[in-house]
Amino acid sequence: MDDLISRQAVLDLIADYDLSMGQVVKGIHNLPSVIPQPKTGYEPKTGHWIYFTAVNTGEIIWSKCSKCGNEERGCAQRMKYCPECGIKMQEVKK
Ligand SMILES: [Zn+2]
Repeated sequence: MDDLISRQAVLDLIADYDLSMGQVVKGIHNLPSVIPQPKTGYEPKTGHWIYFTAVNTGEIIWSKCSKCGNEERGCAQRMKYCPECGIKMQEVKK
């Protein structure tokens, strides 16, 4: 019967270098089955800069990453990736 075991439990088991291969196999057989947990939440593949502009001039004063909220001053619109979370930035069509 197929079942699922914890990757970390296997790594912990084989971290003991003194075990023979037979002991490792027996240890894997004795690991408890785990129930996989579904990933929750939506993870965007791309983000965009949210611009905050000066009321009087329209100049972009600072920008905020749509994924992590990282705030950058000045030239953020030229950055292709957020320096904080690493998400790829896409230009938002207006
Ligand atoms: Zn970010």
